[in-house]
Amino acid sequence: MKHPVFAANWKMNHAPADAEAFLRVFLAYYPKTQDRTVIFFPPALTLGAVHNALKDRTDIKVGVQNVHWEDHGAFTGENSAAIARGAGAKYALVGHSERRHVFGETDEQAGKKVAAAIRAGLTPVVCVGETLAQREAGETIAVVARQLRAGLAHADAAHVATCIVAYEPVWAIGTGKTATPSNASQVHLAIRHELRTLAADRSEAVPILYGGSVNKGNAEALLAAPEVGGLLVGGASLDAEGWSGIVRT
Ligand code: PEP
Repeated sequence: MKHPVFAANWKMNHAPADAEAFLRVFLAYYPKTQDRTVIFFPPALTLGAVHNALKDRTDIKVGVQNVHWEDHGAFTGENSAAIARGAGAKYALVGHSERRHVFGETDEQAGKKVAAAIRAGLTPVVCVGETLAQREAGETIAVVARQLRAGLAHADAAHVATCIVAYEPVWAIGTGKTATPSNASQVHLAIRHELRTLAADRSEAVPILYGGSVNKGNAEALLAAPEVGGLLVGGASLDAEGWSGIVRT
């Protein structure tokens, strides 16, 4: 029986007051439940407001979209994992494709960020995924395996077992193009295989989420696919009523 994870990546949307209005609607549609995990990833400046609005809803968690790899220091404009934790985050997205492709984040940096998240007591959500050119060149599995190994390079088996992995093909993010459930499953199986090499039996507990243009119409089929343990959703998580429909899939 799956215990799916539904993660909302708000990207650079929803100021604190918008988030509070969103949550008033969302919470009315989504009564407390223990059979799934819902996580919001608001912008860092909105994180405290979301955490506060959810103080009576321990079934819903909050995460940060990015962390620096150092714990503190002269890094103007950045947030450490410990600062995010202090503001209420329990999870950290690491290596999201927009971080990699818009901000030039490397595999090595992703690995250091995962280590920083673990040090601060955050659960890293390690994002991996191939570009269209890499897919067309038949490199999907090799790219995803490389990103995963680099992302988890500084995590021992016990820590790998506490992570979440998100497979997000770059060509599917924000494009309206979605991997078919069987395509997604194929890559998720390869990720599971890779996780076993890193953490043996303990890796079975690691949820592998799919992300990339998920919406109410395709969520159920994707979630039913083998090895799909949840969904990481961008655009379709911005509307409270629509998102409440997806998390009740
Ligand atoms: C994302 O940002 O992680 C994402 C999957 O976006 P979208 O759902 O809009 O494709």
